[in-house]
Amino acid sequence: MKRNWLLVLLLFSFGGTFAQLPDDLICAEKANILHRIKGRGNSTIYHGYNIDYHRCHWLLNPKKNAFLSGSVLFQFTVLKSIDSLGFDLSSGIQILAIKRGADTLKYTRSGDAVYVYIKNQWQINTTDSFEVFYQGNPANGAGFGSFVYDNHKTGPVIHTLSQPYGALFWWPCKQTLHDKIDSIDIFIHTDKTLKAGSNGLLVETLQEGDTNHIYHWKHRYPIVTYLVAMAVTNYDEFTQYAHFVGRTDSMPVLNYVFPQFKNTAMEETKPILPMLRLFDSLFTRYPFINEKYGHAQFTWGGGMEHQTMSFMVNFSFDLMAHELAHMWFGDMVTCGTWQDLWLNEGFATYLTCLCFEYLKSPDEFRYRLKGMRNDICADPNGSVCPSDTSKVNVLFNGRLTYNKGAWVLHMLRNKIGDDAFFKACRNYLGGSNLYGFGYTSELQKEMELASGQNLSVFFQQWFFGEGFPYLKINWKQLGSKVKLSIEQTPSNSEVPFWHINVPIEFRNKTRKLLLNFEPQQLVANYEFDLDFSADTAIFDPNVTVLSKASVGGVNLDKIQQDEIVILPNPGSQVFQVVSRNPSLKMIEIFNVLGEKMGTIDLGISASKSLYVDASKWSAGTYFIRINTENFVYSKKWLKQ
Ligand SMILES: [Zn+2]
Repeated sequence: MKRNWLLVLLLFSFGGTFAQLPDDLICAEKANILHRIKGRGNSTIYHGYNIDYHRCHWLLNPKKNAFLSGSVLFQFTVLKSIDSLGFDLSSGIQILAIKRGADTLKYTRSGDAVYVYIKNQWQINTTDSFEVFYQGNPANGAGFGSFVYDNHKTGPVIHTLSQPYGALFWWPCKQTLHDKIDSIDIFIHTDKTLKAGSNGLLVETLQEGDTNHIYHWKHRYPIVTYLVAMAVTNYDEFTQYAHFVGRTDSMPVLNYVFPQFKNTAMEETKPILPMLRLFDSLFTRYPFINEKYGHAQFTWGGGMEHQTMSFMVNFSFDLMAHELAHMWFGDMVTCGTWQDLWLNEGFATYLTCLCFEYLKSPDEFRYRLKGMRNDICADPNGSVCPSDTSKVNVLFNGRLTYNKGAWVLHMLRNKIGDDAFFKACRNYLGGSNLYGFGYTSELQKEMELASGQNLSVFFQQWFFGEGFPYLKINWKQLGSKVKLSIEQTPSNSEVPFWHINVPIEFRNKTRKLLLNFEPQQLVANYEFDLDFSADTAIFDPNVTVLSKASVGGVNLDKIQQDEIVILPNPGSQVFQVVSRNPSLKMIEIFNVLGEKMGTIDLGISASKSLYVDASKWSAGTYFIRINTENFVYSKKWLKQ
């Protein structure tokens, strides 16, 4: 019920973009931002400390209700001498006590902020701790998904999903993008017939009374608050083992699945092993290698990259690749501001494409990129950099943050080459960003260092700039001479001219040649020699340029043998009728059954050349009746 409501709300809020994500893949952050987007921004001053460690005890039993009680220990280093420190907790959750050793501390509450006081000041650079005891019914207050009480076919389930502003609805925390928790222990107390999944390693399962188990999960890598998670239900489980290139050790991949899906999940999750091996070898070692990777099934309609254990609605190839990719881009290195969200989502989307390239086939990779390009170019506006991070549909836009972000990475890779691109990615993930936060400016710097190229124009136009270029390409060949014109119209006037590479492949039945052009103005003309007679020219056959292009052209040698020519023949999407002398007046097209497919009457605008869109016709032979000023010609055209 909550999920349906959520989906209805999502569809309402995101409109068309929801359906346009690849395979309806959507990260859970989209859901949760809705109710917190107007909340307080990130402020280290308000909190006043660096969080070093949490020990969390959470008591819950989804077999009974969604009530949560527990305690969270804060261990921290004080950032400035001060008599109060802050943390975040929804006003709908009751605080029972805040303890510092044997002392009970005073606190005040203001909205979702809690201020804790001690008699003397906390001194700068000292470490200290306090423990917050609390209880409540977070499912009521957090309704959009940060703490969800739901049912699957064989039992009740509770899962959390805090990105980006939902953590405070179910646990006292420092909700920020500026500080990671260095280390965390999570103890989940629940009915012993259920299992609880969480971050890190399950180090022990303890008996508690007659009816309960305590599941102790231990995570020893830095983790941003929104990635701390738990899921509790009647899970069945199975473990796979990932092996990495050039290493003999293995790492467990732990799958918590609803019992009714165990058999299919065991089959469907197999690709996760080559995916892990691929990302580990292309980028850096799997970031949480000493612990695990895993999946926990949940009822939300997508996936969420909880650190070391992604929560998944199912185990589709795309969803598994996307959430796994986030372990590097999003989890180990987290976007430093919401404007940098593409560093999470653009990378996760592009790494999914890389799984198609390396684990399926280059054709499937290109097919996927084409689909994303169509989606991006369906609207002439919009940049990867969100213009207003307070607007949900701007920030979490599948067409821009996800697809255009991924395409910008793809173009960058083509511009600087694989060696420099992957080296720069590795450097961006390492160094000062390692287990910290990343920014677009840092990615640019690493790409420049690795390639030796100045990429300021590239980032300016593709990260900040709105839209993309439309290209009109025309060519003529006579003998060995080819005349080519490339005319550019920016889709949005914000970028007056796109500095892009325009690859064009000239082909006939036996030869092909790919040439690259780098126009420096809106209309660029070229003349060059071609040592074969081309039938056709194709824009960007390798799918490397984010642009919408039309190509028209003719080989004049071929026309001279005949009064009227149809090119290319055979063809596919569009064909051109060209007349050597008499002007074309009217064209009629018939299929093999003699049914008329269309009539084009040029009337007074008779010309010597005409394009016909055949994209909607089925493959086969067509009869073209061509009326000129003096004669009627009949030609055949074959659509492939
Ligand atoms: Zn994502």
